[in-house]
Amino acid sequence: YSPSKMSFNYGGGKTTGRVPVGIGGRRLRIVVTGGAGFVGSHLVDKLIGRGDEVIVIDNFFTGRKENLVHLFSNPRFELIRHDVVEPILLEVDQIYHLACPASPRVGARFLLTSTSEVYGDPLEHPQKETYWGNVNPIGERSCYDEGKRTAETLAMDYHRGAGVEVRIARIFNTYGPRMCLDDGRVVSNFVAQAIRKNPMTVYGDGKQTRSFQYVSDLVDGLVALMEHDHVGPFNLGNPGEFTMLELAEVVKEVIDPSATIEFKPNTADDPHKRKPDISKAKELLNWEPKISLRDGLPRMVSDFRNRILNEDEGKGL
Ligand code: UDP
Repeated sequence: YSPSKMSFNYGGGKTTGRVPVGIGGRRLRIVVTGGAGFVGSHLVDKLIGRGDEVIVIDNFFTGRKENLVHLFSNPRFELIRHDVVEPILLEVDQIYHLACPASPRVGARFLLTSTSEVYGDPLEHPQKETYWGNVNPIGERSCYDEGKRTAETLAMDYHRGAGVEVRIARIFNTYGPRMCLDDGRVVSNFVAQAIRKNPMTVYGDGKQTRSFQYVSDLVDGLVALMEHDHVGPFNLGNPGEFTMLELAEVVKEVIDPSATIEFKPNTADDPHKRKPDISKAKELLNWEPKISLRDGLPRMVSDFRNRILNEDEGKGL
């Protein structure tokens, strides 16, 4: 890593030459947009845990205060209800941008969380960062895919044109405790359905594949990317590839051997397969995931059970 790249504007725009805590052992002030969300809150835990000051900006559209409530009494933690499409002036060393809309700020290193969806329904398998993708620009899911592709374009334009220090992560399917119960992702659906003793809903023939990464592996990858000297993009995902039928089998094994499945029609433009090639992140960031699906799934069960129980109690059931 090059020391020249490690000086940040901090404290009235003065360049202090401070280095990240993970490298030099000094405390940083860090903004996490979307920090009340599933991945964001785990990232915040890690940064607070190693001694940094963390400011979370979240509009609570999908994030939840419950994900951060254990930090409220910590003097190194601040929470701001704010929509990042509106400007906000904060003096910080690093910005992890997990909230969906993009608004780069000058002076801090800016990490954009992009997505494996930039590859669309991929014609190259597994997907390397050099693959440009196969996205239907007018499809039902293209607002997300093209939105993130545009965010990558803007980040690179700010990097090239305005010298913003940018990092780009392409995040593959991620699961773990604190996932939204009701946003329809396959892992949260299957786990919640198995706990509620409902059939697991397999869309289409269930032969489409995804690669599922446990959230702590992702968070380690995001921090490694922020602190290394490479812009990216980098694939951050677990190369273990599963069909949805195989995923249902693993959920059955891990959560409830009597769980059943039911088939439902699939959504339009659903990618047939997805699996990251992570050789670039391995080589340049010295990062690779450590937790397999079979080890990771049991770690989200108690969190899901508790929340489902609370929800049911709230309904007077
Ligand atoms: N899926 C499924 N049952 C569900 C929810 C999703 O079979 O209850 C399938 C979906 O069709 C897709 C895969 O699981 O092929 C992953 O969907 P998800 O929305 O979790 O992630 P993404 O499509 O964004 O990778």
